[in-house]
Amino acid sequence: MVNRLKYDLIIFDADGTLRRCTVPGQVCPNAPGQWELLPGVAGTLTGIEWGSPSRDRTALGIASNQAGIARGYLAEELARRMLEDTVEAAAGFRPVPGSVELCPHGTREGCSCRKPQPLMLQRLMAFWETAPERTLFVGDMASDRGAALNAGCEFRWSADFFPGD
Ligand SMILES: [Mg+2]
Repeated sequence: MVNRLKYDLIIFDADGTLRRCTVPGQVCPNAPGQWELLPGVAGTLTGIEWGSPSRDRTALGIASNQAGIARGYLAEELARRMLEDTVEAAAGFRPVPGSVELCPHGTREGCSCRKPQPLMLQRLMAFWETAPERTLFVGDMASDRGAALNAGCEFRWSADFFPGD
């Protein structure tokens, strides 16, 4: 387990890190009821006293590529609500506005937010007013690790952060 006291902000990827899709052959959920938390996630996240770094607590953020929006699989508003639902299921509270970042663009649009681009992480660090060296990003893909490197924050694989089964 990570020494979370070292961090003012811990940002999580969603799919494959906090949750998995329950529809066979589908990677990301496109509707409520198509996902479940991964093992160990709720047990770990409910054990952390989340809050604002200005009050000596660790803040929580989400940074999720949601290319399904560009592909027409789901609306941005629904994707955002499902990410908020995921946080609530995992950590026990509704995330504050500004702490959930998603990239709605397709893989070939060349946007500046889709991971491994660092913009979503940078926005979250600006929102919580945290420094990169006090920020950890937890994810399951090389693009997550790339985003952390590009943003200058630390990175941990989700398999190492969460205990699993
Ligand atoms: Mg992922």
